[in-house]
Amino acid sequence: MELAKTHTEIRVAGGKLPPIPLPTNCPGCGVALDSDVLRKHGYVCDCGHHFRLGADAWIALVADRGSWKERWGDVRSHDLLNWKVPKPYQATIDQLTEEGLNEAVRTGTCTLGGRTIWLATFDFRFVGGTLSIVAGERLARGMEQAAASGLPYVLIAASGGARMQEGVLALMQLAKVNAAVGRLHAAGVAYFSVLTDPTFGGTAASLALLADINIAEPGAAIGFTGPRVIKQATYADLPPGFQSAEFQLAHGQVDMVVPRTELRRLLAHLLEMYP
Ligand SMILES: [Zn+2]
Repeated sequence: MELAKTHTEIRVAGGKLPPIPLPTNCPGCGVALDSDVLRKHGYVCDCGHHFRLGADAWIALVADRGSWKERWGDVRSHDLLNWKVPKPYQATIDQLTEEGLNEAVRTGTCTLGGRTIWLATFDFRFVGGTLSIVAGERLARGMEQAAASGLPYVLIAASGGARMQEGVLALMQLAKVNAAVGRLHAAGVAYFSVLTDPTFGGTAASLALLADINIAEPGAAIGFTGPRVIKQATYADLPPGFQSAEFQLAHGQVDMVVPRTELRRLLAHLLEMYP
């Protein structure tokens, strides 16, 4: 497949992406940002810097216009463990909900290039995209339905790991979603994972890197534990570019690094290849 060389070839079938908060200047090249131009380019700067997107933007980017059907949006997190530090967990959930966010994972069906798929996307804005009981439940249910119906499953990952405010119940989600991935594989259903900046912890250690094809965005940080903690624990000098998408590609952890401007076209192509 020939990859386009310019951002103008982006295919954002869902139409305009929602506005996102942007710095005045690009952290990659320092150039002053034009939010309208950037939005048309999928929030990718000409220098190649990929700005982080929320779940709403990912749905607009991946799904054909008007095709998104959200599932289990009414299944919501609540504070099971009476967690208070550093802030009461319930207050965090309530505040994010008031801001219009709905969990760290949203899932549903849509079409991509006319083909029906299951789509799940993390949202880093919701408690760092952490894998919670509800996030795990939405992911596992979608995978089980994809396995039963034969529809391909596409994941967009962006996560700090498991949600500490839900303790071991959040850690249990790793096993649950991995079992659901196993059902996808057993059913011979295509599973594509897109790892965006950042994908860490339990999410990287479970479903995000277990797809048939693991695709990473350029420059995305991907790993289990972050470099600062690794350095503190091992006193080792970490190599340049450690845990970048390109580093993980060179070390066999991901299968390809693809610019966001090419993602829809790539996914449509892969869906064609998988019967
Ligand atoms: Zn830039």
